Amino acid sequence: MYGLMMQQPLLVASLLTHAERHHAGQEIVSRRVEGDIHRYRYLDLAQRARKLANALAGLGIAQGERVGTLAWNGYRHMELYFAVSGSGAVLHTLNPRLHVDQIAYIIDHADDRVIFFDLTFLPLIESVASRIKSPRVFVAMTDRANMPAMHDLPIMLLCYEDLIDGHNDDFAWPLLDENHASSLCYTSGTTGNPKGVLYSHRSTLLHTYAAALPDSLNCSARDVILPVVPMFHVNAWGLPYIACMVGAKLVFPGPALDGKSLYELIEAEQVTLSAGVPTVWQGLLRHAAERGTTFTSMRRTIVGGAPCPTAMTAEFQERYQVDVLHAWGMTELSPVGTVCSFKGHHLSLPAQQRYAIQARQGRAVFGIDMRIVGPDGKELPWDSQATGDLQVRGPWVTSGYFGGEDASPLCDGWFPTGDVAKIDPDGFMQITDRSKDVIKSGGEWISSIDIENVACLHPGVASAVCIAARHPKWDERPLLLIVKKPESVLGTDELLEFFDGRVAKWWKPDAVVFVEALPLGATGKVLKNQLRDQFRDYYLTA
Ligand code: AMP
Repeated sequence: MYGLMMQQPLLVASLLTHAERHHAGQEIVSRRVEGDIHRYRYLDLAQRARKLANALAGLGIAQGERVGTLAWNGYRHMELYFAVSGSGAVLHTLNPRLHVDQIAYIIDHADDRVIFFDLTFLPLIESVASRIKSPRVFVAMTDRANMPAMHDLPIMLLCYEDLIDGHNDDFAWPLLDENHASSLCYTSGTTGNPKGVLYSHRSTLLHTYAAALPDSLNCSARDVILPVVPMFHVNAWGLPYIACMVGAKLVFPGPALDGKSLYELIEAEQVTLSAGVPTVWQGLLRHAAERGTTFTSMRRTIVGGAPCPTAMTAEFQERYQVDVLHAWGMTELSPVGTVCSFKGHHLSLPAQQRYAIQARQGRAVFGIDMRIVGPDGKELPWDSQATGDLQVRGPWVTSGYFGGEDASPLCDGWFPTGDVAKIDPDGFMQITDRSKDVIKSGGEWISSIDIENVACLHPGVASAVCIAARHPKWDERPLLLIVKKPESVLGTDELLEFFDGRVAKWWKPDAVVFVEALPLGATGKVLKNQLRDQFRDYYLTA
């Protein structure tokens, strides 16, 4: 029929093709695991991604099969982003900060065929390899000179650079259905086992368009973008795709996320825009303050994953003239949901009022529909007063979890975020609490249920509850409340030592409070909200 637009599927590979054609000379700079700085251009990225796509085909990876990565932010990870998804397989980014048992569970659950890893994670791979059910192929993301000794590992181990070198760059990206899966990321921000969120090419492309907009992350060809947020965390908030779409220079920090390393990279590469969780920025601000220095190029930083404290916003803006963009999102939302960009009438407000607005998580980007509902499921007004469960819907919001064994999480077609929020008449959402029973420490999830289960294994424990308590550095840390068995003489040190080896080190609660009894509700469940209210400031006042 005349007059209709072309039916062109929205595909991840098209971002790379666009970047190669229009921004071939634009740089991608990476601090490598080996410590040196690597630089090349989008042209090289595209060529090597095509070689890698041929290599994946050579390994027998079929469309729809999962390819795992355990890697920092760097150019090889970027090549995997495009080669895996572009060729029709599914890029599965694994979070190396999880406990090895959880990583093994996730690899088995996702049925990853091949796992690419940075050398940093070799010991982790060795532990994981003996725990996963079926043997898989592992690829060390390095060159021949840096390959670890093969005989130490009871696994099939390949070398990334050899793998690429064995293939030419003649590869035609397949014309996939845009609803085909492109990538997979597990979240432990829910109860029970980690759950996989499966993104499609279409959802990724639509998210990329929306997240790049001026009132979203505001990215352009003139930007030099430093994603400190890891590429194993919800696609580094979409920045690898956005950078290709707009042709921005990319700067990858590798494993060096301390304040000094980040500062040096920001200055050396003249970064204009960075993105990360508040904990990372604390380190950077401390370093800058100690050095008494300034940022000569950085003008904006995106702060998300946890609430951005007003003191941080003020320090960035007043001392360094770096604008803070406070954003909220979730793994289930690809992740961008809201961004706190001012409206015109905010600009003339006094500074304190502007800071109060910037403490909010912001307004929904086009594509995300949001609402707050009361306990009866009825929508609540946007009046800055009413607080309710935050629900969202949109083309880059998940409708269920990978594997589908759980019932649909949706309520009337809306995704319940587990966050509790209020919304002002201008549409700025502010998170006031969380209804989901998890702890977010330095931007990473800790399962309160797993902590409670471990505590209950101790013979001196009658019952255990773990809650999130506010923490000045990590935003939240786990606090353990314990009712001892009558005859038990259990003390804090003994109980905390009991966690060693049973959970990831940073999951271990910082303190234990021994109580006589726990408050129970009508159905016999522990009233965690009551405990949260009582002990929320434990680490701030202790
Ligand atoms: P994740 O799936 O790991 O990205 O975590 C998503 C969750 O992190 C959200 O549901 C919130 O609970 C929390 N979160 C993300 N961004 C923010 C923010 N700016 N302020 C407060 N909480 C946030």
